[in-house]
Amino acid sequence: MKCRVCREPAIIDIRRHNANFCADHFLRLCRDQVTKAIEAFSMITPDERCLVAVSGGKDSLAVWDILLDLGYQADGLYLGLGIGDYSDESGRYAREFAAQRGATLVEISLPDAYGFDIPNGSRAAKRKPCSACGLSKRHLFDQAALEGGYDVVATGHNLDDEAAVLFGNVLHWQTEYLGRQLPVLPARDGFPRKIKPLVRLGEREMAAYCVVKGIDYIVDECPMAKGNKHIGYKEALTAIEATSAGAKHSFYFGFLDRASARFQAEAEADQADLTPCTECGSPTSTEVCAFCRLVTRAGGRLPDGDHDTRLDAWFGDHVHPDPVVDGAFAGDPDDRDDPDPDPADHEPVLVDLAPTRRSPKDARP
Ligand code: SF4
Ligand SMILES: [Zn+2]
Ligand SMILES: [Zn+2]
Repeated sequence: MKCRVCREPAIIDIRRHNANFCADHFLRLCRDQVTKAIEAFSMITPDERCLVAVSGGKDSLAVWDILLDLGYQADGLYLGLGIGDYSDESGRYAREFAAQRGATLVEISLPDAYGFDIPNGSRAAKRKPCSACGLSKRHLFDQAALEGGYDVVATGHNLDDEAAVLFGNVLHWQTEYLGRQLPVLPARDGFPRKIKPLVRLGEREMAAYCVVKGIDYIVDECPMAKGNKHIGYKEALTAIEATSAGAKHSFYFGFLDRASARFQAEAEADQADLTPCTECGSPTSTEVCAFCRLVTRAGGRLPDGDHDTRLDAWFGDHVHPDPVVDGAFAGDPDDRDDPDPDPADHEPVLVDLAPTRRSPKDARP
């Protein structure tokens, strides 16, 4: 097996490219694919500041590493979810990576800052753990980005994640989600721009990237992920890919090219006027935002004090309307059960990299 570029021994075959690559040319391929995604979807410019949502898993550490290598101003944000050993270990990987790269890692601890953890808080709030977790992550990443003056939030969603999310949304014809399933969501009323620079790279490639680069990441799956439908969708697509190389890519990018625009009107109509949450100042379509309601239901505590003035500035002198609440979770797009909890955190490891080594721990080149 020889590298397509230099004919030296290859370490990975990528069937959808019908090619093999040596370590150097594989790393270059990963960077090139990220550059291509950034340019094709106008994700970020070098003078913008980016906050990377870091879970300690392979995808989020790889996207942070590639953005830094490409010269982007990228800091990390790690959110401690209070999920026992899993959180302790994933936080350690995130810190180790930041220290090795000399990068800035911002940390927020859900138990310390808000008085609840995902396992107990979700039970008390009667929400599925992944739903409470996804809602908390979206809220806290957005808020931290705005308060820290970041232009963009980057996540480690890869091609496998996006194809699986698309599969789930099509399976249930969740048309309002289909209209929002884009590699870039523009900034609006108090939400930062969101970007997914890894959409052109698969899960197996991201694991290989970390192995080759010597990036240690948490391999164990989150214990809360058990029974998660997203993982089943991923496995189904991986089975299809095994007999039809490139199926995930053509499913996802075919959707973006030929179908996504058809659902956007519905997604836009679904985005009600937003006003500041009376508790935290974040944009919401109800009086109190979904996250603040979750904190209360989970038995946690809302921080005292004024909201960040930057958030108020987004709204100017916008007057808060009467609350439009006709049900516990009505109206607020952030408050629906998350159909696709952040897959970057589940990261089932499907790596088969023969002849390269499997464990990231023994992967130092
Ligand atoms: S599986 Fe992912 S979304 Fe679900 S609780 Fe764990 S980290 Fe959160
Ligand atoms: Zn080569
Ligand atoms: Zn709030």
